[in-house]
Amino acid sequence: MSEIQCDIKFGHEGLQRGHFYIPCPRNDSAWGVIPIPIIYFKSGEAGPRLLFTGGAHGDEFEGPIALRNLAEMIESKDVDYKGELIIIPVMNIPAMKSSQRLSPLDGRDLNRSFSKHLEGVTPSIAQYIMNFLIPKVDVVFDFHSGGNSLDFVPSILMHNLSDASMREKTKAALKAFGAPYAIILEEIDATGMLDTYVEGLGKLFLTTELRGGGKVNLDGMQVAHNGLIRLLHFFGFIPEIEAFKSHLQNYDTTFFEVPSEKCFCRPSTTGVFEPLFKLGDSVKKGELVGLVHSIESCETVVEKVYSQVDGYILADRPKAWCAPGDSLFMIGQKI
Ligand SMILES: [Zn+2]
Repeated sequence: MSEIQCDIKFGHEGLQRGHFYIPCPRNDSAWGVIPIPIIYFKSGEAGPRLLFTGGAHGDEFEGPIALRNLAEMIESKDVDYKGELIIIPVMNIPAMKSSQRLSPLDGRDLNRSFSKHLEGVTPSIAQYIMNFLIPKVDVVFDFHSGGNSLDFVPSILMHNLSDASMREKTKAALKAFGAPYAIILEEIDATGMLDTYVEGLGKLFLTTELRGGGKVNLDGMQVAHNGLIRLLHFFGFIPEIEAFKSHLQNYDTTFFEVPSEKCFCRPSTTGVFEPLFKLGDSVKKGELVGLVHSIESCETVVEKVYSQVDGYILADRPKAWCAPGDSLFMIGQKI
């Protein structure tokens, strides 16, 4: 990993913008690299040490915009900030340039590449973050949205942590972010996730799902912008001053849990998905929630999809076509 260069001089006061450079030789560039933008800010000797990231998936846009805006705001407001903040607005530049979840270079999902045992371009991005950036911080906040294949209610998320003290600390930060929905999630496949890696080190980790559908959503942007300021205030990075007052009002957050695979509705056939409910609706266990229409038959052939739990629709599939096992709905239960 020693060959990865970074422009930032960590530990220096003020705001710096630069890149770290992932080696990626190409036919037209023998020593080619992928420059990943990184912003670093430090003020004072004491304060929180934070890493804010976005763009692990290249089809999720609210976080990357909000993080760049945050850097502009920090630079433009002469405020007594306290602490260190590392921002990587877009971790997976090749994926975002192609507007896809996975990297076009190696087909990998960056948020399944946080492992010491993988090799290639995408794992190299993860390994730089694991080896050189995460040791510098105590808190990691990673922005996600639903991307091309999911649309979520605007939400802040944490995992169902087994350590009681970390669970309470994380829950307090979750509440401070002030999204309309807070979700405590049991991850279906947590291997190689940034989330799992950071939690395993005993550091605080938060993430979001701010709508999706492969576009920039206005409500997701508003939640991201206000939430960032509220979170920085919660960690003691920004003081409670007039300039931020309008962002620091109390917001109502409703807590949900997604405790098991039963909370996901999946079809067993390929076809066109017709939802019978929309985001935020409540549904009952056993209720018909969607239809999957086959188009290859002259008859009406429909697979009926039922909810296996009582709850609220926290995510749906914004695409008509679906295949066996796709997530059509994620249903959360109010706590
Ligand atoms: Zn994502």
